[in-house]
Amino acid sequence: MPEHNPLAERIEHLETRIADACRHAGRSRDSVALLAVSKTRTADEIEFVHAAGIERFGENYLDEAAAKQDRIASGSLEWHFIGPMQSNKTRAIAERFDWVQSVDRPKIVRRLGRQRPDRLAPLNVLLQVNIDREPQKAGCAPDDVEALAAVVAEFETLKLRGLMAIPAADNSAAQTRAAFAEMRSLFESLQQRHPDVDTLSMGMSNDLEAAIDEGSTMVRVGTALFGPRG
Ligand SMILES: *Cc1c(COP(=O)(O)O)cnc(C)c1O
Repeated sequence: MPEHNPLAERIEHLETRIADACRHAGRSRDSVALLAVSKTRTADEIEFVHAAGIERFGENYLDEAAAKQDRIASGSLEWHFIGPMQSNKTRAIAERFDWVQSVDRPKIVRRLGRQRPDRLAPLNVLLQVNIDREPQKAGCAPDDVEALAAVVAEFETLKLRGLMAIPAADNSAAQTRAAFAEMRSLFESLQQRHPDVDTLSMGMSNDLEAAIDEGSTMVRVGTALFGPRG
């Protein structure tokens, strides 16, 4: 790896941030997974990051993701769908991804459950929660988590793993921290009924320290890893 490769330097800096946040929170480094958010990035950039040891990649748009998935030969990448869910895209998503983090309504759960091929391992599902109750935002209402989880549990082709949230972009730092704390308590209640639930996906480039402090088990990082989106 060239010494002054900016991507290599960002990966190293990000690793330090995550490790420091874990230490600050009194948690072990391996209690927090890193999802590299690769929307708008090329297949070559993804392969470079993968070669540096990062295995999970998050994509927001099906067609863009499919083109890159078809170019990348390695089968050792784990693909997470994290974008808005349209019902006419669920079949391809159910066939192409290992995880879907943006499941937010019963209709989408049922389509994914029926369309996930039996020859594949169960699709890992996170329920997206509209934690700041924004009018136009994807995500189920915090009060609807239990009901939606029960629908996921009806399907053997789906495996409920936990919750995902994107706090409001115009939050203050204190508001974002409060949103993360509320997610943690929703997550802990969900675990009471569904003991296999193990994943709380929250924290991005600008707020991953607060998310880790509030119990995140997966941070989703784009800009701080790949650089500014063009
Ligand atoms: C783009 C995106 C991210 C990454 O955001 P950065 O601020 O670039 O780290 C994380 N999660 C979701 C759902 C996204 O769409």
